[in-house]
Amino acid sequence: MSHISENLIQVEEKIKKACERAGRKREEVTLIAVSKTKPVSDIREAMDCGITVFGENKVQELRTKTAEITEKLSWHMIGHLQNNKVKYLPGMVDMIHSVDNMKLALEIEKQYAAKGLRADILCEVNMAGEESKFGLSPEDAIAFIDSIKDLEHIRIRGLMTIAPYTDDPESNRKYFRGLRELMNKANESLELKEAMDTLSMGMTGDYEVAIEEGASFVRVGTGIFGERNYAV
Ligand SMILES: *Cc1c(COP(=O)(O)O)cnc(C)c1O
Repeated sequence: MSHISENLIQVEEKIKKACERAGRKREEVTLIAVSKTKPVSDIREAMDCGITVFGENKVQELRTKTAEITEKLSWHMIGHLQNNKVKYLPGMVDMIHSVDNMKLALEIEKQYAAKGLRADILCEVNMAGEESKFGLSPEDAIAFIDSIKDLEHIRIRGLMTIAPYTDDPESNRKYFRGLRELMNKANESLELKEAMDTLSMGMTGDYEVAIEEGASFVRVGTGIFGERNYAV
């Protein structure tokens, strides 16, 4: 068996156990295999194990990979997004996880309107206030959602966060819980066309804790494909 298939068996087992601990159904959690920097051959190995949902953080890499892999898969844009790249996304990705400013939201509205499509988006929130990270502060997130909620070609499905890198996943529990509470608060205080129901949180180091705190999407890269090598 390849490393990828062995890793996937382990990740699946951990997801299942976390769901059991939290009294959640396995179907409530979707595993996004984060394939950034990894070759198409690795993606194909994961596909052979039944994986259909993949995450990438660069538009150019998404374009190359989706051109090469023509099977029907669900691609998610999880990385920081520049306005001039938005035009490539309609029809290519099922969800944009990283919306954190008005200009970007307006560009998404414009590009999806031009294609007669609606974008499913998540607002990225920087729960720990890390300087190095993108995302809105929890304080600004509700006002931001309020300001984009009437855009016709955008569906605000929920919130996304990237928690701090840590050896102690328990230390991120407060951020995952905070994201869930923030979504509930926004649903209560804003008159959204549809209530938000999606939380994208948890990566290789902390996805089990994120599932316990209500994650709908976990984004796992290293835990499936191994360490990334940015030098090549
Ligand atoms: C790279 C990346 C991941 C996956 O990180 P791992 O620690 O390798 O699981 C998840 N989310 C985002 C936004 C990423 O850029």
